[in-house]
Amino acid sequence: MSLSREEQTLLPEGPFVAPMAAPSALVLRCETCGDTPHRVLRGKVGGKAEFVFEGVVKCSKCDQVRSVVVREPRPIEVPVIVSWLESSERTALEFTPGEVITVGQSLDLGESRAEVTAIESDGARVPSAVAKAITTVWAKRVDKVRVRFSVNKGNRTIAHDLLAVPDEEFAVGDLVDVGRDRAIVHHIRTQYRTLHEGTARADEIVRMYGRVVRQRTSR
Ligand SMILES: [Zn+2]
Repeated sequence: MSLSREEQTLLPEGPFVAPMAAPSALVLRCETCGDTPHRVLRGKVGGKAEFVFEGVVKCSKCDQVRSVVVREPRPIEVPVIVSWLESSERTALEFTPGEVITVGQSLDLGESRAEVTAIESDGARVPSAVAKAITTVWAKRVDKVRVRFSVNKGNRTIAHDLLAVPDEEFAVGDLVDVGRDRAIVHHIRTQYRTLHEGTARADEIVRMYGRVVRQRTSR
């Protein structure tokens, strides 16, 4: 049997406003089947500090019907400052109050990913803390990196910044579109060496050097 996406969601989406409608299904532990979606036959939702569901549910695998009381801490919003290149953006992410956040941890921002670089709790920088004790999380986006590319065009050198995913590879001899030009990569400088042939990962590149081979004809 297939379940719709909605039925697999534990908590209804959106802000919590009381009174709240009971969800149509909850992922619960069945003694026979393990964690499975359970259809809600009847029940109600309440609680202030907690999400509390009381009702009767039916396991979607074995059809066992039973009464349950489910308690879940309500998520809290933690301010997150996400930096990327020269800018930073203030946002907030939802965590359960007791969830531990640690420096180096990866955060899912929906469209992008970020890595926690610092945590402030009680006026101090800490390596980790539970969500409810955190004042601010600082993070940097890690889904894209900047690759610096110096391109020789006639008697001028033009600096371009390319955006790439960290494990994207660039090779000597690659043709890269920069603005209205197309340039060939001559050599690649990484933190440890200069490549005159071969490839390097975007996140290892300090700077690439190349020259314009021709003007692009369209766009
Ligand atoms: Zn079951």
